[in-house]
Amino acid sequence: VKEETPLLRCDGITVRFGGVTAVDDVSLEVRPGEVVGLVGPNGSGKSTLLNVVSGLVGASGSVRVDGAEVPLSKPGRITRHGVFRTYQTPQVDPGLTCLENVMVASRDRGRRTTASAWLRRRSMWARDRERWSEGAEALRRVGLLDRAHQPAAGLAYGERRHLEIARALMARPRLLLMDEPAAGLSSVETERLVDLLEQVAELGGSLLLVEHKIAFLERLCGRIVVLQTGRRIAAGTPAEVWSHPEVISAYLGE
Ligand code: ADP
Ligand code: MG
Repeated sequence: VKEETPLLRCDGITVRFGGVTAVDDVSLEVRPGEVVGLVGPNGSGKSTLLNVVSGLVGASGSVRVDGAEVPLSKPGRITRHGVFRTYQTPQVDPGLTCLENVMVASRDRGRRTTASAWLRRRSMWARDRERWSEGAEALRRVGLLDRAHQPAAGLAYGERRHLEIARALMARPRLLLMDEPAAGLSSVETERLVDLLEQVAELGGSLLLVEHKIAFLERLCGRIVVLQTGRRIAAGTPAEVWSHPEVISAYLGE
């Protein structure tokens, strides 16, 4: 049997905040093209684990991409390996138009900047002329093409979420880490999000999704990893984990 090297592999990740062990010896992997769900009650360490992978929080243990170890506590380093993330609150730049937001993502690759909107806009127009059609295509995919030249400040919450995904698409992620992408979305917006994430997966991208909405996870994820108070208590197909006794009691006990 040929063993495929996982795209992402976390081994023995432990994070302590003072006396609290937020993540306790957790290992997981995401294979190329795989969509993995990360679930667990509030405070179980899901966001902290994503923060470790994206270098925002230090940890013991190791993170590997394509088998090569990635240094921990280096924010943004992992984007060099094509790993991007979205946050619980959509990160868009309200001072730029929708199209500009997407173009900025292709250049900054998710870095934050303190430059004024005017400076950001000027450097973007100068450098990225040839990529506008690609940006327009990303907006079309998320249903925001008709808003391309309107400021992102005018978008509703769910639309900001879609714009954030267009930005992520523009960065052509190999792996997208998403923290509660469906939080605060209406059921129509959630449907659209599922369609979009299916497209990301069809384009060959892998996803690691933190989400509470079970129907959402069941449609997208081949595999689910369950955390409780920082520990990994179960992993498997959606059917396997939902019938796991520890998972049932973790959720009943919430
Ligand atoms: P989840 O995303 O699963 O709801 P978190 O990863 O946000 O859980 O939190 C896990 C635990 O770590 C919680 O007990 C939380 O209070 C704690 N925690 C998270 N971030 C910090 C921080 N920056 N400082 C101190 N404690 C934190
Ligand atoms: Mg969280």
